[in-house]
Amino acid sequence: MNINPASKKFLAEQVTSIARIALKNLVSKGLLPWPQIYTKEFWEVAITEGFPTVANMKPSDQDLSPELLQEFMDETDEILGEVKDAVEEFVQVTKEHVNEVNISLTSMDKKDEERLFREDIAELRLKNVQLEKQAKQTEERIKEQARIIAELRAKVRVDALTGLFNRMALEKDLEKELSRVKRYNYPVSLIMCDIDHFKKINDTYGHVIGDKVLKNLAMIWRKSVRETDSIYRYGGEEFMIIAPHTTKEDSYKLAERLRKRVSGYRFVVEPPDKFITITISLGVTQIRSDESMSQLLARVDKALYQAKEEGRNRTVVL
Ligand code: GH3
Ligand code: MG
Ligand code: MG
Repeated sequence: MNINPASKKFLAEQVTSIARIALKNLVSKGLLPWPQIYTKEFWEVAITEGFPTVANMKPSDQDLSPELLQEFMDETDEILGEVKDAVEEFVQVTKEHVNEVNISLTSMDKKDEERLFREDIAELRLKNVQLEKQAKQTEERIKEQARIIAELRAKVRVDALTGLFNRMALEKDLEKELSRVKRYNYPVSLIMCDIDHFKKINDTYGHVIGDKVLKNLAMIWRKSVRETDSIYRYGGEEFMIIAPHTTKEDSYKLAERLRKRVSGYRFVVEPPDKFITITISLGVTQIRSDESMSQLLARVDKALYQAKEEGRNRTVVL
């Protein structure tokens, strides 16, 4: 692009203003200007705060992926943890210091009657109170930051361990599917899955291997479903799949395919050749146009429960 000096200057000014606003917004949201976060904020400001010349230059595909956001959250968590430790230590040391100074001031106060000296003591006391106040404020600020990060974390749709969608995302998406079914009345199915005797795997091989099994399971599933199906980690070793445009009969077939694929997979516990196999139980149901989310969840849970009751490693449709 060939830009003349006047428009170059204009553009530079616009970019500077946008950058300033973007940074200010990030600070007020308690976010660090991590590159991806900053970029997103920059374009949002350019588009929403009246900078059309710059906004028109936005390259496509600037969306912040959930994976990157998750990475950012993890990094921020780590930094926050370190800062928190440092602040806690600082506050502790300050408190001790304040106490010690107060004790010695009290004893000096008693001993010495001289006026000037007493004024000095009074001043020191005041400074001490201020120091205590500052320490408290710092502590409060860190707590507030931790709260903001916890909120942001909850907004992230992705489960950190498996990379699948999380429970929060499931609830949001189910709400949407329920209202779509109500309006357009097309088939949408829900599959719930729980690993059989998973506790035994943890007890025998430890949590690290347990977690690895969960990750591998997520990988197998991702490869086994359609692009339009969404997989969620509902709880520890419980998963859900929303399958739009799929009847419960077809979902049963999908569930059985998943079940067989899982039971035939060798989960490596110790490379190169020590492996275990697992089984899963599944419940399948179809969303009804007149029901609430809790009715739907209760039914799919009941189907899963029946699959467990009937001996596990099977699928029940309700
Ligand atoms: P079943 O479902 O067949 O009745 O037996 P189970 O042993 O799988 O029982 P349940 O589903 O009640 O137990 C869940 C176990 O899953 C408990 C816990 O040890 C394990 N678990 C839950 N979340 C995680 C996780 O994030 N990582 C690991 N490694 N284990 C988890
Ligand atoms: Mg369970
Ligand atoms: Mg289980």
